[in-house]
Amino acid sequence: MSGIIAPRMLLIRNADVFAPRPLGVRSLLVGAGRILWIGVGTDLPELPGPLRAGSIVLDLEGRRLIPGLIDGHVHVTGGGGEAGFRTRVPPVQLSRFTTAGVTTVVGLLGTDDTARGPRELLATLHALREEGLNAWGYAGGYHVPPATLTGNVRTDLVFVEALLGIGEVAISDHRSSQPTLDEVARLAADAHVAGLMTGKAGILHLHLGDGPRGLSLVARALDETELPPRVFNPTHVNRRRALFDEAIELARRGCTVDITAFPVEEGEDAYSAADALSRYLASGAPPDHVTVSSDAGGCLPCFDTDGRVCSMDVGSAGALLQTVRELLAAGLPLEQVLPAFTSNPARLLRLPGKGAIETGADADLVALDQAGRADTVLVRGEIHVRDGVAIRRGTFEF
Ligand SMILES: [Zn+2]
Repeated sequence: MSGIIAPRMLLIRNADVFAPRPLGVRSLLVGAGRILWIGVGTDLPELPGPLRAGSIVLDLEGRRLIPGLIDGHVHVTGGGGEAGFRTRVPPVQLSRFTTAGVTTVVGLLGTDDTARGPRELLATLHALREEGLNAWGYAGGYHVPPATLTGNVRTDLVFVEALLGIGEVAISDHRSSQPTLDEVARLAADAHVAGLMTGKAGILHLHLGDGPRGLSLVARALDETELPPRVFNPTHVNRRRALFDEAIELARRGCTVDITAFPVEEGEDAYSAADALSRYLASGAPPDHVTVSSDAGGCLPCFDTDGRVCSMDVGSAGALLQTVRELLAAGLPLEQVLPAFTSNPARLLRLPGKGAIETGADADLVALDQAGRADTVLVRGEIHVRDGVAIRRGTFEF
């Protein structure tokens, strides 16, 4: 014996690969957390003895294999708190993501960036990383000036590896700090410059409320500053129909807009995520400038005219694959739908190795069952879910 432990190799056979583009039936060799090789058909490569000894073969029996979903808007610490302290949502456990096919999350602070703060967010992101998930986050929260770790949001971004941008900064919302154009532009500039310095995404992720001002602040920032449109990344853009029209115009100007997969009631002045994405794709706006996120762990409150909560729900990561299933049922091809959940967020967030099935990419993979649910989920080559059941669980998931 050499005394060197051979890395465990994983051979995936008989996978109908959507990379997101359809590749047909493929076999994959996974090792050290990455996709090392992709072969045509169902044949497997012949591994030399020491590598073969510890290898595992996973036969997907023709199931569709897609890149792990990237959920770009998650309240990993739990959000909420808008109707008293008891309404602070608890943290989201690991398997709530993995069983939903989500292999990468971007965590953030929302309305409550007072009782919760950047330290708690960072600690929660690192806990999820220790449990095997890919996790990054945003500096700041709803309010201006933003909550920071170092006293300066740009310094947070430059020196804290896990932070990719600033957000979710609230605009057109009664819960916001009512930021002015100058304040929003300055935050966007901080994000942009930190992005230049570090190669990170360097974006300003903007929470949009129901207010009639909509996206006018962003349109003005594009008109009146030198900042590139990609820096401005509005979310919840499907919460009002007129707001969604504004978002499509901004996407044409170069912003990437984020649709939220929240529940939409019949007759509501909103688009469901499935409806919004199909409308976006039909609009002729750039197909790579749209993403869908879940708002998992966030409170989904309804407010009365006095600004008091009258009803409440909690966002769930399962809403992403639910949206995919609705789009497939409406007749859209999987390869047209998938980029908004995989390659588009990977590009916006500048996460190399994410959002695609290709040689050298991270082995973040989801096999879908017939019904479009996550049957098998791998995060960086580790099997988290098999037959729809979490076989790895979070530390406090008993
Ligand atoms: Zn929000």
